[in-house]
Amino acid sequence: MPQVETLRGPIDTAQLGFTLMHEHVFVLSQGVPESFPSVWDEEAQIASAREKLRELADLGVQTFVDLTVLGLGRNIPRLQRALEGISLNVIIATGLYTYNELPQYFQNRDIDVMVDLFVRDITGGIQGTKVKAAILKCATDEPGVTPGVEKVLRAVARAHRRTGAPISTHTHSGTRRGLDQQKVFAEEGVDLGRVIIGHSGDTEDIGYLEEMLKRGSYLGMDRFGIDIYLPTEKRVAVIARLCELGYADRLVLSHDASCYIDWYPAELVRSTVPNWHFRHISEDALPALRKAGVNEEQIRQMTVESPRRIFEHSGPY
Ligand SMILES: [Zn+2]
Repeated sequence: MPQVETLRGPIDTAQLGFTLMHEHVFVLSQGVPESFPSVWDEEAQIASAREKLRELADLGVQTFVDLTVLGLGRNIPRLQRALEGISLNVIIATGLYTYNELPQYFQNRDIDVMVDLFVRDITGGIQGTKVKAAILKCATDEPGVTPGVEKVLRAVARAHRRTGAPISTHTHSGTRRGLDQQKVFAEEGVDLGRVIIGHSGDTEDIGYLEEMLKRGSYLGMDRFGIDIYLPTEKRVAVIARLCELGYADRLVLSHDASCYIDWYPAELVRSTVPNWHFRHISEDALPALRKAGVNEEQIRQMTVESPRRIFEHSGPY
């Protein structure tokens, strides 16, 4: 039986079940709560996260991929506390989240230093714990493939080839950044079928999406609820169209939501993106997809079969 590493150790991929492929528990401005602990109430937020995660498990979600890496405030011991006693598989990521510059540490060192650290997270354990990462994360936003971003993309590609862990990305779809990522990965010899181009659900540009699909990548239709980028009915229509075109086995779903994010005042999040929460896909998006003609088999592909295939398709090369 193929296995995948989770917060609680390895499990059979057959146990993954209904999987949200791009979420977060805590998203914190790197360094801010460490320097100024008064900016949040950590204990209260851990308690609140536990409630939200339990609610999610009660909805039938079995696995949650937490793509929180360096740059988003990854902290494994805190995550372990939030998940204590909750029956949810959590898959952990390594990598680096930046739209442009690198932390000085990486800026002034060879790329191999970064590659070795990512590999160590996957093969040894993270932050002194036995928890191993099972997926690699990187980002390319509007500024494009800047020198810092390029170093991360290449380091992620090399760590992927050394370990076989799949790659999941953040993109700015308005500037078609997914194609830029595919180009760098291809130069590094990456099998693009082992890459998920994230935030592809933010656009209605079917031509752009098909171009990436034709190169074999999975697309993350993974920001359900962020209506200010694209409202749910439009996200649903794009997925229904891609299913019609035969790509249901190349799409994965998620919200890119978090139990707690410190980037914006909580009030602002509640008022501008009220649907941005972990229940939105189960309660609203799946019924809307069915209404738009997406059948049960296609929904199963997006929520169960593809996530499983992504984590089974492993091994260095
Ligand atoms: Zn994210």
